[in-house]
Amino acid sequence: MGYEAAFDKLADECGVFGIWAIPGDHEAANFAYLGLHALQHRGQESAGIVATDGKTLHVHRGMGLVADIFTVPVLDTLKGVAAIGHVRYSTAGASHLKNAQPIAIQYAGGALALAHNGNLVNAEQLRTDLETAGSIFQTTSDTEVVVHLMARARTEFRPGSREHLLAALRQALGKVKGAYSLVLLTESTLVGARDPMGFRPLVLGRLKGSYVLASETTALDLIEAEYIREIEPGELVVIDESGFHSERIFPGPGLERTGRCVFEHIYFARPDSVLFGRSVYATRAAFGARLSVEKPAQADLVLPVPDSGVPAAIGYSNASGIPFAMGLVRSHYVGRTFIEPAQSIRHFGVKLKLNAVKDMLKGKRIVVVDDSVVRGTTSRKIVKMLRSAGASEVHMRISSPPTAWPCYYGIDTPTRQELIASSHSVDEIARYITADSLGYLSLEGMYAALGEDRSGYCDACFSGEYLLDFPKQRPQAPLRLVGA
Ligand code: AMP
Repeated sequence: MGYEAAFDKLADECGVFGIWAIPGDHEAANFAYLGLHALQHRGQESAGIVATDGKTLHVHRGMGLVADIFTVPVLDTLKGVAAIGHVRYSTAGASHLKNAQPIAIQYAGGALALAHNGNLVNAEQLRTDLETAGSIFQTTSDTEVVVHLMARARTEFRPGSREHLLAALRQALGKVKGAYSLVLLTESTLVGARDPMGFRPLVLGRLKGSYVLASETTALDLIEAEYIREIEPGELVVIDESGFHSERIFPGPGLERTGRCVFEHIYFARPDSVLFGRSVYATRAAFGARLSVEKPAQADLVLPVPDSGVPAAIGYSNASGIPFAMGLVRSHYVGRTFIEPAQSIRHFGVKLKLNAVKDMLKGKRIVVVDDSVVRGTTSRKIVKMLRSAGASEVHMRISSPPTAWPCYYGIDTPTRQELIASSHSVDEIARYITADSLGYLSLEGMYAALGEDRSGYCDACFSGEYLLDFPKQRPQAPLRLVGA
């Protein structure tokens, strides 16, 4: 298996949730269900919940959407005082129930369940080493590496004790490299951890007497938990009967530079989330406002590509004074087009998802704002759709810099040669998508709008400056634009 095949299998975009429930309450799985609902945008392929009743872990995983998997009878089997949950999206090739999370195992230390968001860059190597040493893997997911490392850990503590669990986890996390925000559950302990760069988000909330961990604050909002703070990069938190404990697992120089994913702000997180301590909506609107200054256009209307382009388009409209209009209407009964695994479905998907409001657009000069261009397929279809609806000019504006480099830290992006901006100039892309003009937000402008220093973020997808080493891909022929 080449590296690309390996990464195709390993790349995960996911959401995680954990709750240590109100004492005496056995509703943990119901809260997890709601939490996962509010994280559904982070993955629609599979979902799972593991709950503990204090003695046993109860597990249920399924393919599809949270609301379809977790019916009332299923939730009834997941009674417990604490629970973790996971929503998963993976790229084509590993779309199997066996890869659904949380992973649950039985080892010398007891029962253990783990849910992971991110991507480990040294998973293949670790897996090979573990298999050579006798480990038998049940999935193709990189998360299982952590579990095997924990099972093999030797500590001075009694297997099954809380000290042993934490020592084993510290040892395992000391060996893996990459992006992880994870939640872990045993019969009597809930643990949350975030990698030292803090690529993927993880937040802490409180609900009356209970603690909640979640990828995004939307999960806290839904269950009416109070947002406390981010789990810090390199922080490990332990929640059990004795309360809440926090420690730095990676103290020292490694933490001087964090790598929070800027693409979470641009596209991935929900706009109503507070991400890395900032409102995603306000950030996206600021990106749009800055874009209107950097890449102005003479136009009659500003249209978003819904839903992800909406806050940026509002920002663009407010700052430029060009009226905002919902000239593209989205059907909410289809998933994100990019999520569809086959190219043929994706092409059809744009039409399934979006339709133009013809009366509004006839004879109008349009600025259309989207958050990013990946392959260029969506933009091309949208420009075509707007022209056939009667628009006289179509100016495409993108509220992020050109996406020219794949992500190895947990956002699913295609290989480099499939990213249109890796091999084409802005003018070439404008011609391909048949827009009258195309303008991207600059990297400097993005940070100016964010109001933060670049050194706290990872922007490898725009800059190619990777913060952690990853196995290199074999060189491939650049993308040929069919129909350019
Ligand atoms: P494309 O047609 O390949 O250029 O896809 C561009 C569209 O995909 C934009 O409308 C983005 O909102 C969306 N998008 C960008 N990155 C991702 C991602 N990692 N997963 C899903 N959708 C994405």
